[in-house]
Amino acid sequence: MSRFFKFGKLHVTKGNGDKLLDILLTASKKLKRSRALVGKCPKCGNNIVLKKSFYGCSNYPECKFTLAEHFRKKKLTKTNVKELLEGKETLVKGIKNKEKKPYNAVVKIGEKGYIDFISFSK
Ligand SMILES: [Zn+2]
Repeated sequence: MSRFFKFGKLHVTKGNGDKLLDILLTASKKLKRSRALVGKCPKCGNNIVLKKSFYGCSNYPECKFTLAEHFRKKKLTKTNVKELLEGKETLVKGIKNKEKKPYNAVVKIGEKGYIDFISFSK
């Protein structure tokens, strides 16, 4: 990080690096934030983080909310997880059926915290 700042100062003396450094710092902060934060726990409002193979509440063990990383072996996207955590229905694309044919499904978190199948979708 110190190296990065030296680089920035070098340019500031030339008068045009200030803004560039600002942009770079903002961009890297945004990136970090979006990576770390998957969403908020629907039970207690703490952050949801990705554990080894599932999503869990950062307030564990006080809060035991978890969410599977997959639905019918299809990995959920960040958008899927975000929408599920908000209690919304979300579209999971490209799930494979027994004949290995892909289909899309609308799913939602059910009362017990499991992902419920709602309907097929195009
Ligand atoms: Zn929680």
